[in-house]
Amino acid sequence: DSLHTAEGNEKPHVIITFTNAANNYGLQEKFRITVKSLFRFSSVPINLYILGDEQSKTIVSDILRDVVTNPLDKMELLHLDINNLTKKVHNIVQEMQKHFSYKPGAYFSDALFFFSIASHVVLPDLDRVIMLDADLKFNADIKQLWNLFEKFSNKCIIGIARENQPVYRHTFHMYRNANIRTRVGDPPPDGLTGFNSGVLLLDLDKMRQSKVYNSVLKSGEIEKLTQKYMFKGHLGDQDFFTLLSMEYEDLFYVLPCTWNRQLCQWWKNHGYESVFDLYFRCEGHINIYHGNCNTPIPKL
Ligand code: UDP
Ligand code: MN
Repeated sequence: DSLHTAEGNEKPHVIITFTNAANNYGLQEKFRITVKSLFRFSSVPINLYILGDEQSKTIVSDILRDVVTNPLDKMELLHLDINNLTKKVHNIVQEMQKHFSYKPGAYFSDALFFFSIASHVVLPDLDRVIMLDADLKFNADIKQLWNLFEKFSNKCIIGIARENQPVYRHTFHMYRNANIRTRVGDPPPDGLTGFNSGVLLLDLDKMRQSKVYNSVLKSGEIEKLTQKYMFKGHLGDQDFFTLLSMEYEDLFYVLPCTWNRQLCQWWKNHGYESVFDLYFRCEGHINIYHGNCNTPIPKL
């Protein structure tokens, strides 16, 4: 298998969701910055998978032609069949969509925001993959990020950074009121802060092997967890990973904040000013900026 030659020489596999982009110039511009910076810093060629509709694929090809010099040295572009995959994902995540969705119904199209949860089932040919938002800016080599898979302990199946705002302090407020000494929703370094899914390291092999993970995906389990933690979210996969981490902390390798430095500060002026910095602080060289909630990324 040419993709998995000598250990350490493997080309990183990277998935980016880029859909409904046709009339969304803001999204197109964010995606351009994401891929341009990704390739600018990368020391290795990348297998880039796009999860998008037909129109978005054309836009991706145009943008990549524009920003990637020597494309054959830098990447192989692959398009994933979004309809087929979303159908499969929907079958697996249908039950959790009602607990972690913005909209009331468990819509089929909405299942895309749950893709990572079922990625180990719907992408049987991949061992490991990095999944990225399209509103990032790289300031480091993605090979270094890929190497962090080696830091996972035996039990870890997913690498993910903490949420940089007190989002989950808020979401878990009922549980926290009933459990005064809990770590649930507390800030770093000791709290179970909750996660942000803008940068994900998915060890698909270990996800497939994990008895715990796959049993939780079966019916009824999510319901039990949402009740135990009095949880109602609207942020898709990151809500699921967050809730899961409260019960099974060991499944997750906590990525350093420098690999997903979120810039959104919405919660600062919505009742959490006094604790905001405990969550927001991130020291060291920023490897990836994440312009979440439409926050502009500073010129580097
Ligand atoms: N996305 C997309 N089309 C859309 C909206 C979102 O492809 O119309 C993808 C894109 O990869 C984006 C991700 O979904 O980065 C998550 O959305 P966003 O980054 O806007 O959420 P935030 O990070 O602000 O919570
Ligand atoms: Mn984002």
